[in-house]
Amino acid sequence: MNRELNPQGCQTRIYGNRDCFGHQCPKKPTVTRDGELYCKIHDPEYIKQKKTEQRAKWDKEDEERHQLNTLVMARKKATQGLTLTELSKVTPDLIRQAIKEAETGA
Ligand SMILES: [Zn+2]
Repeated sequence: MNRELNPQGCQTRIYGNRDCFGHQCPKKPTVTRDGELYCKIHDPEYIKQKKTEQRAKWDKEDEERHQLNTLVMARKKATQGLTLTELSKVTPDLIRQAIKEAETGA
């Protein structure tokens, strides 16, 4: 088993099942970063960009979750204490009004 990475190949060691020392990534290197070669998917810049994108996606999902939670809470607050009959008469306008009142503290 060759534990040294071939300097002409992608400078990434891959660990598979029962492969405790790993092996060099067999993909063709396409970029040089800090004097070392990397294939497209192991390019540190590409990985960094992917992580940034992932974080942006998570942030967006967090924001959406937060918005949904706010919506659910507002709806709950707006219809609090209502009976089913009363609830059946609640219109979006009434909910808007209740939210407005909750926001202005009226
Ligand atoms: Zn690679």
